[in-house]
Amino acid sequence: MAYVISPVAVPVVPVVGTADVFPVSRIFCVGRNYADHVREMGGNPDREPPVFFMKPGAAALPEGKDFPYPPHSQDVHYEVELVVAMGKDGANISAQEALRHVYGYAIGLDMTRRDLQQDAKQKGQPWEVGKSFDCSAPCSKIAPADKIGHPSKGAIWLDLNGKHVQNSDISQLIWSVSEIIATLSTYFQLTAGDLIFTGTPSGVGAVRRGDLLHGAIENVSELTLRVV
Ligand code: MN
Repeated sequence: MAYVISPVAVPVVPVVGTADVFPVSRIFCVGRNYADHVREMGGNPDREPPVFFMKPGAAALPEGKDFPYPPHSQDVHYEVELVVAMGKDGANISAQEALRHVYGYAIGLDMTRRDLQQDAKQKGQPWEVGKSFDCSAPCSKIAPADKIGHPSKGAIWLDLNGKHVQNSDISQLIWSVSEIIATLSTYFQLTAGDLIFTGTPSGVGAVRRGDLLHGAIENVSELTLRVV
């Protein structure tokens, strides 16, 4: 038996300090996970159940590649986020066990066609055209947990053309990494290779072609990206 067409290549993200790569399966994203960002989007920052959406694994854009400004939007936004890279399969994972399933951590950008997302929200339609487009998930090299541990605090920030636009601390996550994995794994059988973008703090805004984005999470990783 042979494939009748060539299968697509597995998307990969490099691992810090090695020549090895992490194979990406799905990309799960958490919405509304920092109170200051929930407020800037006009929402209620009470601790409601986490909001999940997905991007295809092929949307991962590794460090070193430019971000192509996508079609059909005049309002493409950056959202800097802590990224969790899953190293073990599991469903119904307890919060106590959750971190044992994590391979490592990265910094990523949940790029968003905000105009299309807002239009979908207003019409009660799905978010894919706003959120799940090609190259919509730039991601730094992955720092293995056996090197850096499991960070629960540390500055997260993003500069746009050298100006600080997002600035928070991952201790401000409404739903912690353990709680996200526990809840998400009740909805989906998580697999090694899944990435989880854990939500963005306030300060989201638009990019233009030629912009330079540079972000970091203390003791995790950093990411530089040109919009073209
Ligand atoms: Mn986001």
